[in-house]
Amino acid sequence: MTITAPPAHGLTFGDPATVDGGLSSLARGLKGSEILRIAADVRALIAEGRPVCNLTVGDFDPKQFPVPQPLRAGIQRALEDGETNYPPSDGIPALRNAVVEYIVREHGVRYPVEGVMVTSGGRPAIYAAFRCVLNPGDTVLYSVPSWNNDYYATMVGAREVPVPARREAGFMPTANDLAPHLPQATLLSLCSPNNPTGTLLAPDVLQAIMEAVVDENSRRLAAGRRPLYVLYDLMYGSLVFGGAAQAHPLAVVPEAAPWVIALDGISKAFSATGLRVGWATAAPAIISRMKDLLGHVGAWAPRPEQVATAAWLHDVQGIAAYRAEMQRGLEARLDALYSGFTRMRDEGYPVDCVRPQGAMYVSLRLDLIGRSIGGVHIDSNEVLRKVILERAGLAVVPFQAFGLREDTGWSRLSAGAVSVRDIEECFPRVRAVLDSVDR
Ligand code: PLP
Repeated sequence: MTITAPPAHGLTFGDPATVDGGLSSLARGLKGSEILRIAADVRALIAEGRPVCNLTVGDFDPKQFPVPQPLRAGIQRALEDGETNYPPSDGIPALRNAVVEYIVREHGVRYPVEGVMVTSGGRPAIYAAFRCVLNPGDTVLYSVPSWNNDYYATMVGAREVPVPARREAGFMPTANDLAPHLPQATLLSLCSPNNPTGTLLAPDVLQAIMEAVVDENSRRLAAGRRPLYVLYDLMYGSLVFGGAAQAHPLAVVPEAAPWVIALDGISKAFSATGLRVGWATAAPAIISRMKDLLGHVGAWAPRPEQVATAAWLHDVQGIAAYRAEMQRGLEARLDALYSGFTRMRDEGYPVDCVRPQGAMYVSLRLDLIGRSIGGVHIDSNEVLRKVILERAGLAVVPFQAFGLREDTGWSRLSAGAVSVRDIEECFPRVRAVLDSVDR
């Protein structure tokens, strides 16, 4: 038989609109990532050689925040040892056990090993939680600004109830904010420390929320109704600064254990976003369903990374040393941002800034909506973002990317991919732009 070579010009795929038009309404209805769209603008400016302080990236620059050396060496060793076949779909037992002990040390909460499953970073855990809890049309309740709840809700066809959180509460929800909406909700999604705000749910606030969930579920179970579940995202749980207090929901209200799905991973705690190791912890009855779901997706963490992470999570001294160094680096950058913008506010510039308590973010307001700069009328956060990027080389992500609808001038600043020097150098440029606001 003669095999004919494919034509040199390659394959033709027809009219893209026709091919796309036949795809599912879910696929065609998904919004692309706002943050990636903004990143493309930033790259274009950097390519022109313009000075840019890039505070858009929710990731760590490996040159400034490398992964722990023992973790890296452990992955290389595991590869050489032939740890390259399928892991169990809920994770290798050594890692699930290491996660149990890690959570005991971090939060004082002990899960049974059947209550732990390993996932490929935090995202599959979130997706599986939404998928396993919510039927199409069920309600998911979350505060805004928050990270990606809107995308996950769209993927499972849930009804969304976004509750605006207030500046005075550090843009975090309170039990009072949530109370009117709890009776209709099937899932409450919380995250602390929070992306994008860099603030925490204080233990007393968290306790009040979890007690409200337990009360709500006593009523529902007595009436034979489906309970309210809680997704608690602890992805930034180890990045807490300046003595702020942070708690695990089951440390403050253990009675909520049947209803809480918590998630964490190495992505942010150990600057290891590309290694893809995360985990979900919940009642074994929930984990068992999540395991079945994600097993079909194949969203497990790579086996060499699992082997190395299992060893690393037991390295108490190594973790303490790594964390001290990382906190120093992150705190220096967050302090530089916070004190620089606070100084400008105190000098009378139209600026507000929330003191960061955790994660890698600072909330900044440039109160310029309704003003004009160089003849450009600023009527939305998007116009503001572009003006500030093009004229001051300050790249930020407006809170709109985190579900906020109102144009209030608030944005997220991320400190993971800039140096303190990059930050210091941007302030004179920002001042110059603010000095040029049309009178
Ligand atoms: N949760 C929050 C709040 C995040 O910001 C992120 C990633 O940015 C994740 C979860 C997902 O982390 P991963 O990269 O491990 O999927």
